[in-house]
Amino acid sequence: MSFIENLISNTIRADVRDIGGYHVPDASGYIKLDAMENPYELPEHLRAELGRRLAAAMLNRYPVASYATLKAKVCQQLGVPAGYDVLLGNGSDELISIMAMACARQDRRAVMMAPVPAFVMFARSAQFAGMDFVGVPLRADFTLDRAAMLAAIAEHRPALLFLAYPNNPTGNLYDADDMLAIIAAMGENGIVVVDEAYGPFAQHSFMGRLPACPNLVVMRTLSKLGLAGIRLGYMSAAPALLEQFEKVRPPYNVNVLTQTAAEFALDHIAVLNEQAAVLRAARGELAASLAALPGVEVFPSAANFLLIRVPDSDEVCAKLHARKVLVRNMSKMHGVLTNCIRVTVSTPEENSVFFDVVKASLA
Ligand code: PMP
Repeated sequence: MSFIENLISNTIRADVRDIGGYHVPDASGYIKLDAMENPYELPEHLRAELGRRLAAAMLNRYPVASYATLKAKVCQQLGVPAGYDVLLGNGSDELISIMAMACARQDRRAVMMAPVPAFVMFARSAQFAGMDFVGVPLRADFTLDRAAMLAAIAEHRPALLFLAYPNNPTGNLYDADDMLAIIAAMGENGIVVVDEAYGPFAQHSFMGRLPACPNLVVMRTLSKLGLAGIRLGYMSAAPALLEQFEKVRPPYNVNVLTQTAAEFALDHIAVLNEQAAVLRAARGELAASLAALPGVEVFPSAANFLLIRVPDSDEVCAKLHARKVLVRNMSKMHGVLTNCIRVTVSTPEENSVFFDVVKASLA
């Protein structure tokens, strides 16, 4: 073995050496419908003003450590209950790993749980932090299996349980009573994180339930709302709990450019909310036209993407790729997703390119 191979095997954990990286395909020249981004940019006059603000940002200084202004805007504009604060992250990805690091205790088996199929970063963050990940299968219609969840909670006593609301990759909202039963069953022994990354497209939220549920964390992001490039996630929880996670947060984790851009965008949140409304309407239209195609099953979605099942997802994805359209073929991810494709809802033009390729591939 070479020096570098020996170095890696002497230093890097075996479970890290054995996995593949989080693969993001090169998208240049492609219609990008694989990452649940908002296709619309801020209007030109706002971009010009944002440019002036960014030019004035003091890049020689660390960000203001308290993030007080940004946090106040997040709390005001994004429905955080009175008396509750937020913890900010470099995307919600960072918040997931902060929570895993804080809960991965060494004196006994620390478990993270989530219904599966789920967002892949839950299991990855658990693994990297040294927690065991227990996935509890959703039913075939992607609803929560309440009995199986409660049994798994009793057996594994997870410290952290993630419920994405709506779920990625399935797109549906779980039944709120099932979620409340899970939160009650976790009780003092475990924290339930309701991950509302797709909240702007769902118009349902657990944020207002924070005061009634002291073991609840609600996590959100600006990514899907139209600011994926700035990487800002936030979470709220009982102040004493948030304080614990705050200790694990790397200092200055939200950079000055993100801070400046986010403060500016939150002052113009109505523009982003309007774009989300346009995408919700487009979702309904795309879902209806796809559902009318013979052989295509469209699952209900409260997110900015659709999960569809086609007769042969490998073939449809190959044809999409040939037309320079990127989507996610979910078929290999999980048994219940056989022949399923996840597609971001985009502009009318991009949606119709997707639709036309799917339609032609069925002929
Ligand atoms: N949670 C869920 C359910 C997601 O699907 C994603 C993004 N794909 C994230 C969190 C992470 O979002 P970000 O890091 O961009 O805030």
